[in-house]
Amino acid sequence: MSSVGLSSEVLKGIDEFVEKLEGHYSKESIQQIKKAYTFSKKAHEGQIRRSGEPYISHPLGVAGILAELQLDSASIITGLLHDTVEDTTVTLEDVESEFGEVVSHLVDGVTKISQIKYRHSHEKQGENIRKMIVAMGKDVRVVLVKLADRLHNMRTLKHMPFEKQARIADETLAIYAPLASRLGISSLKVELEDLSFRYSQPESYYELAQKVSKKRKDREKYIEEVKTVLSDEIGARSNIEFEVSGRSKHLYSIYRKMKSRSVDYDQVYDILAFRICVNSLQECYEALGIVHSKFKPIPGRFKDFIAMAKTNNYQSLHTTVIGPGAERIEIQIRTFEMHDIAEWGIAAHWKYKQESRGDGQVDKTGVEKFNWLRELVSLHQQTRDADEFLENVKTDLMESEIYVFTPKGDVKEFPEGATPIDFAYSIHTDIGSRVVAARVNGKMVSLKYQMKNGDNIDVITSKNQTPSKDWLKFCVTSKAKSKIRTFVKTEQRDKAYNLGVELLEKSLRKEGFSVNRVTSMPEFELFLKDQGCNSIDDFYIRIGYGKITPLHLLKAIMPQEVQTEEEQDQGFIQKALKKVVSKKKSSSPILVDGVSDMLVRFGKCCTPIPGDPIIGFITRGRGITVHRADCERAFEMDQDRQLDVGWSREEVAHGGHVRLRVISHDTPGLLRFVSETFSSLGVNILNAEIKTTRDKKAICHFDIEVRNTSHLLQTTQALARIKGIIGVERVSGS
Ligand code: MN
Repeated sequence: MSSVGLSSEVLKGIDEFVEKLEGHYSKESIQQIKKAYTFSKKAHEGQIRRSGEPYISHPLGVAGILAELQLDSASIITGLLHDTVEDTTVTLEDVESEFGEVVSHLVDGVTKISQIKYRHSHEKQGENIRKMIVAMGKDVRVVLVKLADRLHNMRTLKHMPFEKQARIADETLAIYAPLASRLGISSLKVELEDLSFRYSQPESYYELAQKVSKKRKDREKYIEEVKTVLSDEIGARSNIEFEVSGRSKHLYSIYRKMKSRSVDYDQVYDILAFRICVNSLQECYEALGIVHSKFKPIPGRFKDFIAMAKTNNYQSLHTTVIGPGAERIEIQIRTFEMHDIAEWGIAAHWKYKQESRGDGQVDKTGVEKFNWLRELVSLHQQTRDADEFLENVKTDLMESEIYVFTPKGDVKEFPEGATPIDFAYSIHTDIGSRVVAARVNGKMVSLKYQMKNGDNIDVITSKNQTPSKDWLKFCVTSKAKSKIRTFVKTEQRDKAYNLGVELLEKSLRKEGFSVNRVTSMPEFELFLKDQGCNSIDDFYIRIGYGKITPLHLLKAIMPQEVQTEEEQDQGFIQKALKKVVSKKKSSSPILVDGVSDMLVRFGKCCTPIPGDPIIGFITRGRGITVHRADCERAFEMDQDRQLDVGWSREEVAHGGHVRLRVISHDTPGLLRFVSETFSSLGVNILNAEIKTTRDKKAICHFDIEVRNTSHLLQTTQALARIKGIIGVERVSGS
């Protein structure tokens, strides 16, 4: 049996194409395909490809690839029409009235993927793959057509300008080939990879291609020899019906091996792969036994992808053995059915369904076997940022490497570097967001632990736990990342919203307006539109983030009643005085709720603690920064952004950082008294520095944590009472 692959011969025209379709497709289908060809040819009339050929050669080529994948007639028709709506005067309505709803939906899907234009190619890449995955959720045929489109463009890439070739090839390698791999269509993947390799790294490609072809004769002879040995052996020792094939691995996979092992071509040993196909699962293991008794297996290289199928549904036994002449060879053993899935992936599932139904309707049963796909589609609904999405998806597109066990003994597959967080999210979002630690093979580990093959993982959750932004640093799956991001964003937005509501109310009142009055003005509606706010909630959130200031709003909607910036500058001194007065009268301070609050931060220069007089400043995009009222930095801040703040709590459990300078006589045992004093008052010492001077004095700096100013006062007074201490003072900075 020869290896299945896509033929890359060029179709001369519709007659040749129809000839290939006959026997595989119904008369009516072929009639429709012919009609689509004529329709597309007419629409693209006069358009020429870079190769100099009429444009129709491209859609025809795409349709040819789809026919080889044995997709249904609707896919083939879509292949023929895929560029008409985007590049010609044909509309989607025209397509629908001529070819029906199914085809028009498919064409629409393909058009949408290619239509989005972005300024940065990186952004476009992210957006494209996102659109593709959404489209996949609706109908996977859209993506199969897009993959065929890309393959045909890669086959004709030599006509593209040189500088574009590498970029397109890189994109194919990053997105399309992994996508084909994830959909399990290895024939597509292999060709996309080798074509991309050729254009993205031409020197390495041609050098390797030459080396490989030099040894072709020897290799072919060797392949025949091994095939004969394997056939004889299995034939002599069993009644199994089987087929053996052998081939050299494709160039890009050899190149990848060379790279990852940093070796030259001559040192890459397992470039030959043999395949034994049998009828049943039991026979797979029987054949494996025969192979291992004939050739010595290399320890650690046996993989059972039958018991543990890959996410893309690939199933096979893999083993590497020492073959004739002490060469290492890889042998894959699988059933014929598994082989079909291995070569055609999702297309094979799809094909079976379509044949049994024959109505051209989408049947998702095959698609649903691809859990990965389903997860990705549902994730899309939460991720709006294209870059973020791409980053998430790229890891998922990588081949998974690690297999671990759940407490129930189920197997789960993860990319390398995955941690218990990824594991927990893969079970359920609620488990993911509550995970605090994990037990690996019975031993406690932290959330940063990188799981290893064969680990037994059991996660420990707590209902008080919530996801944190830090987790993003040590999880790799898109599910975990996207769920964590969603949580963090929602939490932050809620905080920004509440802050915005308070800020606006307070600032308007200070200027003598009420929120109701301002928001009911017709100018307010205009202001919202102008700022691109989708809703009033959105407006408050932006105020909370400092992206819109209340003054900005007032200036925009009632310029005559608010001072211009010039007037404000002139009246600076009066204004500063007014602020001092209004501060005293302030009855509803902004609540400051502890350091953990993301939108309220404390100035590092003065580290206020509860009880200190404080002032706040709106920082663009970062919420509010709070300083001690007497902090030097606070005087340098833009007074327009100043606002009154106060403490909502009288004490904090952690984070009330203070630096103390203690000057004392250098007497032995003093330090012990000091630390006893701290601990008796429940003060945490974070850091201590001690210097002695020539006149026998000691200058100590202590960084401590206190609950509030009265706790601090209590502490300094207790220290001052210690015999030998000359002075205690709080100093700025930490
Ligand atoms: Mn195209």
